[in-house]
Amino acid sequence: FSEDVAGKVVLITGASSGIGEHLAYEYAKRGACLVLAARRERSLQEVAERARNLGSPDVLVVRTDVSRVEDCRNVVDQTMNHFGRLDHLVNNAGMVSISMLEEAEDVTNFRTVMDTNFWSCVYMTRFAAPYLSNSGGRIIALSSCASWLPAPRMSFYNASKAAIAQFFETLRIEFGPDIGITLVTPGFIESELTQGKFMGEAGKLEVDQDIRDVQVSIIPVQRVESCARGIVSSACKGEKYVTEPAWFR
Ligand code: NDP
Repeated sequence: FSEDVAGKVVLITGASSGIGEHLAYEYAKRGACLVLAARRERSLQEVAERARNLGSPDVLVVRTDVSRVEDCRNVVDQTMNHFGRLDHLVNNAGMVSISMLEEAEDVTNFRTVMDTNFWSCVYMTRFAAPYLSNSGGRIIALSSCASWLPAPRMSFYNASKAAIAQFFETLRIEFGPDIGITLVTPGFIESELTQGKFMGEAGKLEVDQDIRDVQVSIIPVQRVESCARGIVSSACKGEKYVTEPAWFR
């Protein structure tokens, strides 16, 4: 099985940087039409320009906050109005919050992480599913090694990634052959998310070198380009994409 995505329509959330940005380039090289969604519209426009140059026939940019249900509905509606079909939905947008539970003064951080990482997948998938079913399409969902690797101060993020994994493993059964699911479980990739833009308590940005050192000692580090290439290649073969931890090798 090898899907040709040329001329097909791919919606990517979190396409303004990191893995999502490079997923856009990989799909563009294969000739797919793109819908790019995130909050930073200027960055999306730059990604769109590059994706066109790499071979995408048509790119639509839709400013979207995936934690808002109405924004998720809007980006799917705009996709259908513009392209009339949807073939791949890539649930990639995500954020990280680092905090010991006992340090968290309220649960707001946890809610924001779950809204951005998990609930966005629920909203996007619910609105897109009828169209994906019509096209015999596929959902690509970004979980993480964090879904099974406990690390201190990462409970919110790790729980959100475990929720994503179990949500889509269950949908795989519900959807059956109508909609394919590619669950993505990468290791450690240098991106804005891991390069120190961690959201600490009180919203201050902080680098957490200790956590990073532990993570990279256990989880293979991968370049964002090769991760994106691997994800699109796995999706087109109808497979999962898993980065094996070092001790499995
Ligand atoms: P980046 O921080 O580079 O990218 C995150 C993307 O998500 C950005 O485009 C950002 O866009 C978008 N985003 C964040 N919040 C929202 C929001 N509320 N609404 C819309 N878009 C949003 O990180 P990565 O590329 O590393 O992460 C991408 C995905 O991969 C995440 O789900 C992450 O959990 C997962 N992952 C990453 C790993 C890594 O090591 N980097 C490992 C395993 C999984 P904007 O700010 O413009 O809204």
